[in-house]
Amino acid sequence: MEDDNYIPLSYISQYNYCRRRAGLLMLEQQWSDSADTVKGSLEHKNVHTASITSRNSMITITDMSVVSRKMHLMGKCDAVEALLSENGTAFPWIGGKKYELYPIEYKHGSIRMEPEYEYQLCAQAMCMEEMFGCSISSGAIFFISSHRNQEVRFTKAHREAVEKTAAELSQMLEHKVIPKVDYSPKCLKCSLKEICMPKVSDSVSDYLKRITQENEKGDTD
Ligand code: SF4
Repeated sequence: MEDDNYIPLSYISQYNYCRRRAGLLMLEQQWSDSADTVKGSLEHKNVHTASITSRNSMITITDMSVVSRKMHLMGKCDAVEALLSENGTAFPWIGGKKYELYPIEYKHGSIRMEPEYEYQLCAQAMCMEEMFGCSISSGAIFFISSHRNQEVRFTKAHREAVEKTAAELSQMLEHKVIPKVDYSPKCLKCSLKEICMPKVSDSVSDYLKRITQENEKGDTD
């Protein structure tokens, strides 16, 4: 894969919500705002300003860029807390002292269990482990509306799911095939449902491509 074909890390979450949704976003650059996505991006606005603040033994870095060359992922962490710790790793860029890193991903709405959010957070941790040669055992998802943190401990299953998703996204990007509709209750809340048309088996673009092909075939008959 070409070096510039890095996959946005947030697609780890999109893909585990719905493979087709990730395909539409990545290959057709389809984006449609729903009330939820507008609310989410407004709530994220405060976090997406790069800053470094220090308080007692903790440093908080917001909007931090991360990358994995192994998984071909790149993206941002909403916030990373670096806590001074004897068991941590020395980071030259924060004075050479030992810190443990703890990523925090902000999500709109109230606290809820969503495996795809956990995979996205774990992917951020895995990127930082690769970048800094450190070990990150946990992080948190902060739900903005309810002001509640949900801690996530990164298991072997989380890590395997991230690697598998990154590999499948790379394959999708290489072969440029958008997965077919897999209709589920998630479709009702999906901001792409008008474009995807999950109750019709084709997307608008598939439909147009099919009609064009049929017309071309008709011309040559
Ligand atoms: S409408 Fe359903 S199948 Fe289509 S992208 Fe959304 S979740 Fe996936």
